[in-house]
Amino acid sequence: MVTDRSRLHIAVQKSGRLFEQSRDLLKGAGLKLQGGKNALTARAENFPLDVMFVRDDDIPTFVADGVCELGICGQNVLEEYALGQAARRVRTVTNLGFGRCTLKIAAPDGVVYKTEMLAGQRIATSYPRLLAHFLAERAIEAEIVPMKGAVELAPRLGIAKFICDLVSTGATLEANGLAAVETVLASEAVLVRTLKPMAPALAERADALLTRIDGVIATQESKYIVLNAPKAALIEIARILPGAEAPTVVPLAGRPGHYAVQAVCQESVFWETLEKLKAAGASAILVMPIEKMML
Ligand code: ATP
Ligand code: ZN
Repeated sequence: MVTDRSRLHIAVQKSGRLFEQSRDLLKGAGLKLQGGKNALTARAENFPLDVMFVRDDDIPTFVADGVCELGICGQNVLEEYALGQAARRVRTVTNLGFGRCTLKIAAPDGVVYKTEMLAGQRIATSYPRLLAHFLAERAIEAEIVPMKGAVELAPRLGIAKFICDLVSTGATLEANGLAAVETVLASEAVLVRTLKPMAPALAERADALLTRIDGVIATQESKYIVLNAPKAALIEIARILPGAEAPTVVPLAGRPGHYAVQAVCQESVFWETLEKLKAAGASAILVMPIEKMML
């Protein structure tokens, strides 16, 4: 594929579990994307970036080869790819907090499971390298049966006794008479960057985009809190504010000994937190969403 080297390229899943949140993340970073649902690429109108929509399994390869400087994929896909490579060619920049799932060993219902019982058994999976790594670490020899999909059917079809598959709720396993028994890898979506050298101007653009993306991630949880408090309560209030660094404290006009406290809280603010603040002496507490943030 020939790509324009003056623009950045990000590989994103074309359709599937990661598509919507990947697109929302880019939109949140202020990118206006052109191109319809079925397009293979989308051009950002207001940033030198093209989005390439591909199968999630191809994303590490695209990024490793430098066809795309950036990509969004699951850690499961990334690690499976990396285990097949002699050297790392892709770097994880940040965890994205979506696409959470777990690669698990599942056994037929009723089996009283112990890891050692995998020895000599057939295990079906779409993640043969991750499974081989898991088994090797435990010095277990078993036969890995690679499958592209519908892994949960393998035991019923007599192809394998155990499976190693992605699980989020466990409902699919349950429907097939299986139960998750051991974790191989906990995964979420990550933003990855190529280790191939980039032209300085392009690297600068990548850094600018990553700063924006960090800002989007930071604002998702963060809130801006404003409250009033008497001087005696300030220390306790600062202690309660979740994930806030050095709140701003300003005297209230016309109310000697009273202050307005303002802080960015980088952790969730729950009702319980507000109740604690009130009990500590705070009043007129406001919690506001943060639209943009640059750290
Ligand atoms: P593609 O057509 O891109 O190859 P796919 O069928 O392999 O798609 P999806 O099922 O859309 O992939 O899953 C994409 C990613 O979403 C997974 O690799 C994983 O990181 C994540 N994911 C989150 N929850 C689950 C789940 N319950 N089952 C499978 N994947 C999950
Ligand atoms: Zn896939």
